Amino acid sequence: MTEHGTATNPATSENGEASATAKEVFSDRLLGLLDDILAGQAPNAGRFCGYCYHPLAPTRETCTHCGRPLADWPAVAAVPRAVIEMHRRRRNREGLVVRTVAWGGLSVGVIAALLPLALGDVALWSVIAFFGLLVFFYLLSANLANSLGDSLGYAWGQSLVRREWARFVKQRGSEVKP
Ligand SMILES: [Zn+2]
Repeated sequence: MTEHGTATNPATSENGEASATAKEVFSDRLLGLLDDILAGQAPNAGRFCGYCYHPLAPTRETCTHCGRPLADWPAVAAVPRAVIEMHRRRRNREGLVVRTVAWGGLSVGVIAALLPLALGDVALWSVIAFFGLLVFFYLLSANLANSLGDSLGYAWGQSLVRREWARFVKQRGSEVKP
């Protein structure tokens, strides 16, 4: 999960990454920053869009991610705790899916690998089959976790963020009207 971190300029990425980032609630730069905040590698401070919390340069008067003018959505100096927690739950969910796929595949593998030992006599071939199957399923589940688990986790994490963000925006709108 290291595809984040590239700064995107919506003005120049209309055809390329725009479609990929359109579904993202948060900008790539905010995602990278949220990861760093969660890892304790970055302070939660700076200048952020008052609507989508995209990190902004001091001179910006319009958000480069959502396009909203800061006159309507005054810049904030920190990302709200609720947004960071939202991101944490997303990453947890992504990790859970990847681990579940990996351990699920491995469990099936151990059972499959034990079958020759259970059904046949313990002989050289069944021991070789045991280790062969174990290695095979280990590689298979690692692969599945990286491909299937990653994309499943991404989709599930996305749905969580979209739902929680919609709720957050609704609440924010009723509490503080900028
Ligand atoms: Zn914005």
